[in-house]
Amino acid sequence: MRREIEAVVHELRRLRREGEETIAVDEASLSALKQQVERLFPLSERKAAPPPQRVPSATRTAGRVDVPKATSDKTRTRKSSAVKATEVNIPPSPVVELASGEKAAQMKQLRKLAFGDSFCQSQVKEDKKIVVGIGNLDADIFFCGEAPGEEEEEQGEPFVGPAGQLLTKIIGAMGLKREAVYIGNIMIYRPPMPTMVGNRPPTKEEFGYCLPYLRAQVEIVRPKVIVALGKTAVDGLLGPDSTRRMGKIRSQWHEFEGIPVMPTYHPSYLLRNEKLGSQANRSKRMVWEDMLKVMERLAMPISEKQRGYFL
Ligand code: URA
Repeated sequence: MRREIEAVVHELRRLRREGEETIAVDEASLSALKQQVERLFPLSERKAAPPPQRVPSATRTAGRVDVPKATSDKTRTRKSSAVKATEVNIPPSPVVELASGEKAAQMKQLRKLAFGDSFCQSQVKEDKKIVVGIGNLDADIFFCGEAPGEEEEEQGEPFVGPAGQLLTKIIGAMGLKREAVYIGNIMIYRPPMPTMVGNRPPTKEEFGYCLPYLRAQVEIVRPKVIVALGKTAVDGLLGPDSTRRMGKIRSQWHEFEGIPVMPTYHPSYLLRNEKLGSQANRSKRMVWEDMLKVMERLAMPISEKQRGYFL
């Protein structure tokens, strides 16, 4: 049960980073959660010596739970080192130098370097795969996510799980086929989860290590626009900033290596909202408005029907 509670804490932190202030929780779940927290971390012990991974305090307001505010940088550093659990020593980032030539040959070289990266390989379980981006090497749009998840490291392809299926639908709504764009991640391996279930976002050291692989993919594709999906993608592309909020920076143009970057919410954020029945259409519309900006910038045809999606 401790692992499940840790996973909930993790999810709350992720939501908070994505800009979520409140989430809907029904009475039964909230009371079950409270019971488990009390059982695992009795109040008396919590007062004496708070465990590093306890559930953040949550206040109920009319059936909603306030997600605790982001911690200060100082506290965050302390807490995130507890999340790392294995305390992996991240080596210096690899130097990825591409030979000049055809894009396909450069991508082949890059994939060889990535798959031969002994540090990344050491972070991936024996039967799982490193995941490099995929798609059209001449694409105008480069969708950049966070890190491979369970399905992705199984199949060796980015965005093939539920979030990936939604991304494919978004691409389709833009009038494009998945094969027409390029899809990659900040990370080329799934951040290992030694003591917790589910996925976790990479630390800035982890994505700092993988960044040369992303930079090389951008260099090969040379897209006209990069769509940064979620806070981790934004942090990887624009540099980490714990005070950055997706709600504030999305829908505005930024830049990575001279290429315009459009930050928007991660598809898994939309899936979560859908599941919770909270602001599902509103968040879909926000992402869609960001995609309309991308389409306008690329002078793509936009029908009246497309303009009105999720209104
Ligand atoms: N989420 C991501 O950010 N990337 C993937 O490849 C899959 C899910």
